[in-house]
Amino acid sequence: MDSQPVEPVSYICGDCGQENTLKPGDVIQCRECGYRILYKKRTRRSINFSFYAFVTLLI
Ligand SMILES: [Zn+2]
Repeated sequence: MDSQPVEPVSYICGDCGQENTLKPGDVIQCRECGYRILYKKRTRRSINFSFYAFVTLLI
């Protein structure tokens, strides 16, 4: 595997709203409440980030 530098991405918990910063390979799960659906945070002012919902891969 290449060790490319990766930028952490901020996600918002779909349950408690806690911001979670995740890197590729991290478990998609809220660190606060354990909820497993996180929404990708938009840098622009937009309420459409629900379209970018990340659902945990069912491993
Ligand atoms: Zn949460």
